[in-house]
Amino acid sequence: MTNIFTPKPNPSVEQDQFLTILSREEAIARFEAALFPRPLPSETRLLADALGRALADDVTAPIDVPPFDRSNVDGFAVRSADLARAGEGAPVRLALNDETIACGTAPTRTVVPGTATAIATGGPVPRGADAIVMVEHTQPVGQGGGNGAIEVRRAVSPGQFVSYAGSDIARGEALLRAGTIIGSREIGMLAACGIAEVAVARRPRVAILSTGDELVQPGEVLRPAAIYDTNGAIVTAAIAENGGDAAFLGAITDNEATLEAAMREALADSDMLVLSGGTSKGAGDVSHRIIARLGKPGIIAHGVALKPGKPLCLAVCNGKPVVILPGFPTSAMFTFHDMIVPVLRRLAGLPPRSDAKVAARVPVRIASELGRTEFVMVSLVEGTDGLIAYPGGKGSGAITSFAQADGFLKIEALADQLPAGSEAEVTLFTPHVRVPDLVIVGSHCTGLDLVTAPLAHAGLVVRSIAVGSLGGLAAAKRGECDLAPIHLFDDKTGTYNTPYLADGLELVPGWRRMQGFVFRQDDTRFAGLSAAEAVRAALADPACIMVNRNQGAGTRILIDRLLAGSRPDGYWNQPRSHNAVAAAVAQHRADWGMTIAPVAHASGLGFIPLAEEHYDFALVTARKQRPAVQAFLDALASQEGRAALTAAGFRPA
Ligand code: AMP
Ligand code: MG
Repeated sequence: MTNIFTPKPNPSVEQDQFLTILSREEAIARFEAALFPRPLPSETRLLADALGRALADDVTAPIDVPPFDRSNVDGFAVRSADLARAGEGAPVRLALNDETIACGTAPTRTVVPGTATAIATGGPVPRGADAIVMVEHTQPVGQGGGNGAIEVRRAVSPGQFVSYAGSDIARGEALLRAGTIIGSREIGMLAACGIAEVAVARRPRVAILSTGDELVQPGEVLRPAAIYDTNGAIVTAAIAENGGDAAFLGAITDNEATLEAAMREALADSDMLVLSGGTSKGAGDVSHRIIARLGKPGIIAHGVALKPGKPLCLAVCNGKPVVILPGFPTSAMFTFHDMIVPVLRRLAGLPPRSDAKVAARVPVRIASELGRTEFVMVSLVEGTDGLIAYPGGKGSGAITSFAQADGFLKIEALADQLPAGSEAEVTLFTPHVRVPDLVIVGSHCTGLDLVTAPLAHAGLVVRSIAVGSLGGLAAAKRGECDLAPIHLFDDKTGTYNTPYLADGLELVPGWRRMQGFVFRQDDTRFAGLSAAEAVRAALADPACIMVNRNQGAGTRILIDRLLAGSRPDGYWNQPRSHNAVAAAVAQHRADWGMTIAPVAHASGLGFIPLAEEHYDFALVTARKQRPAVQAFLDALASQEGRAALTAAGFRPA
């Protein structure tokens, strides 16, 4: 075993191993056993500041509500016995007492037989009266001296229109139970009883630290090889969403001494510490080593059979939970929600989350690693017979998979796949998920966002799922989307897209995208050449590195034709998007590649046009009459839509 306190001889290659990987359930059980039960600290808060908090103790009503017998209507306080014989043909006359009981006025006169007192809604019922008659059911009569009189032509029952003292809330009644989450209604009940402050569970103070030399805070300039700290922001928000008092303390470099000092300070001031990154047991990953020195019992689980999220580290140091989330944002969020949120909510006195769930069918087979509980993010679309859950994750490093998915499904550790057509239970990220009005599945293009913008502004929900041209075509054939954007060149006919259509699909022309050779503006090797000449020049220079595209991409077909069988350095670098090609060239990882003009221009690269590619839509004919599809076709044909495409460097068909 290596001594964890001494620097490692070759930190770039050495790795501790995950010696014991616990199942998700075992890890949760051990973590909770080390933390609970524990007393729930409470604090007293003013009503206005108690919203969303869990009540620490039962609250008993200190007074009756209403505090007196109260009139529910504008009318007259009467003795019901006086009106026992009143009827349409038998009006009863009552003399009015010389007071009017407004809201907030205590009565002074007794209602004696044969009299009535004017009373407003909310006024206290005077002594002697036992019912109220509505003003609409009375008739004022001759001023015959004094205060006048009324005539009543209907009988009233005792208690009519009277709310008795304590009928709403009775003094001594259990008003709210400990653990109740205080919402506006609870605040209303407390206020009605005159309660100004309540004891609530104290929010656990949670310190958040990101770790990594590569992290830069949003708002700062991104230096080369750096990335923005995503976990800091998302974990801080998720802690606040789940009852924690979150304090984000910034990103710390992967320096053991600095990090240890930061962790000790953070833990001293808080009830819980959440870190992210540095748990992979790779070189430079030091946080888990520090935990061992922070307090007993220390690490409970390091390595959990979860996907994404295997490197999760759970610890308890002197009674305080310390968690290291995996560095990849998606892994961090899944493990946080699945394993940390339940603990956090318990510490905050909140009940477990009740996430909304829906049933959906999985259209494609989803492979899963045996032995790991796997979470798969999905986008929901409406199929012919119920919801369809599209696996949409772009991998554990992708933050958009979280933001663009509607929810996730779980594949149990003992399953190695979810077969196509399976029914699955989808846990929704928010209960307000709305199934999209328009579903676009296929190849993605930035031009698509320009065309769908007016639909989104008009309140339509547009879901675009990027699975590539062939994947989109397959989805369209299964009737799982409205439109499949495709750019597929057919070698036999020398045409785009049309040869790929099947029964039930029709082609909607989209736009043309100029494909071409990209290079850095200051690279003189390619200045003034045609695209074919530039490729030849690149092939002639052994120091020149290319960046390719993935198999199946329309652009790849072009590249392979130009290369005519040669395999220059960089050929096996095959990213899946136009933007990745531009980034590789801009960052000097490659010297040339093929991408589309708008992307090259946005990256400030030199561009030599080669050929136009047709980006069109396979429309599912059966869905053509849907309002959202019509709105899309209108937007595509509109002046504004065409102008926006042109301005971005596309050529509308
Ligand atoms: P680590 O566990 O530190 O090796 O990190 C694994 C991956 O997650 C690396 O690609 C990190 O750059 C990335 N990562 C770590 N922390 C963050 C963070 N706070 N925000 C975004 N990405 C992160
Ligand atoms: Mg790191």
